[in-house]
Amino acid sequence: GKVLLTGGSGFIASHVLDALLDDGFEVIVSARSDEKGQRIIGSVQPSQQKKTSYVVVKDIARDGIFDAVFQSDPPIKYVVHTASPYYLGAQDPVKEFLDPAIKGTTGLLKSIKEHAPGVKRVVITSSSAAILNPDSHAKVYDETCWAPTTWEDGMDPKQAYKASKVLSERAAWAFIEEERPNFDLATINNTYTFGPIQRNLPSLDALNTSNHRIRDMVQGKMKDALAPTAPVFTFVDVRDVALAHVRALTVPRAGGNRFYVVGGHFSNKRIADIIRSRYPQLSASLPPAELDDDLPGDVYGFDNRKTREVLGLEYRGLEESVVDTVDSILKLGQGL
Ligand code: NDP
Repeated sequence: GKVLLTGGSGFIASHVLDALLDDGFEVIVSARSDEKGQRIIGSVQPSQQKKTSYVVVKDIARDGIFDAVFQSDPPIKYVVHTASPYYLGAQDPVKEFLDPAIKGTTGLLKSIKEHAPGVKRVVITSSSAAILNPDSHAKVYDETCWAPTTWEDGMDPKQAYKASKVLSERAAWAFIEEERPNFDLATINNTYTFGPIQRNLPSLDALNTSNHRIRDMVQGKMKDALAPTAPVFTFVDVRDVALAHVRALTVPRAGGNRFYVVGGHFSNKRIADIIRSRYPQLSASLPPAELDDDLPGDVYGFDNRKTREVLGLEYRGLEESVVDTVDSILKLGQGL
């Protein structure tokens, strides 16, 4: 079957692409420019390049922008929607975050309904941001939890990203409920994601947001002061997130479900200790070894049973994730 993967240049999408190709799918990725599209194709194993193509979609917030994409032959059977802004320092929450996230999602679903009757399932990358309620943490989070963030909250640039994820996921479920399309939906609500950076990345300046913490630590930026981790104290490896997306497409009973994809707790101290023990040459750049663990003792718990039972996930540990992230950062930064 043929899959449309939106936001193909992204960190998570690059691993979803690998996992889809490994599973034998043919994939069309969307990217915002020809240059990005070509970099993605160039990053794929030569033997898999003939199964990979790209389409330029400049502005996902524009109504009907995906219509032409579904004229594809053979027809697209599945859609994985990862494209959504995720960066720090928004100036205009509506234009930069809420519109591309919400209209990008509903516009895509509308195009599928109208132009792609062959699509059976859509998987959307939501986030644990749509689950967590930092003002009053649950004791244990699971898929029944929803962040209470509103559009008005999103007018605060610090909350724009969270609002964009909550409201775009809500809009997607509402679309299914109201429009009764031919396809069903699953969402991947992964937590803060670490792991090998994408092969299509031109330079470390373009590094995705959730890997900044590990880059900054390696670059000595946390020698004197740790970056806060709150409100997110859990991590997951991007390869597990990618597998979750593919399984959510292929496992029949995954349809209609959210999946809270979480590997474990993390703290700055734990990341630093892993780097110190595996990369002695970096120890002078790291926070001091004698620091106390900055994971709060009363931290919330997480329940990832559904992802293990329905999607068959087995999670990588923090050490493997951090080491493979550092390796990939050092490689692109040529040792930094
Ligand atoms: P990246 O920034 O690496 O990827 C984001 C992707 O979305 C890029 O391909 C980007 O294109 C595309 N994109 C952003 N804004 C637009 C827009 N306005 N129009 C078209 N495309 C756009 O981040 P991630 O891979 O981490 O994020 C992917 C998805 O995963 C997002 O939905 C994010 O919310 C979600 N997520 C991420 C988590 C994490 O910790 N990393 C945790 C939970 C969810 P371009 O390269 O051209 O900018």
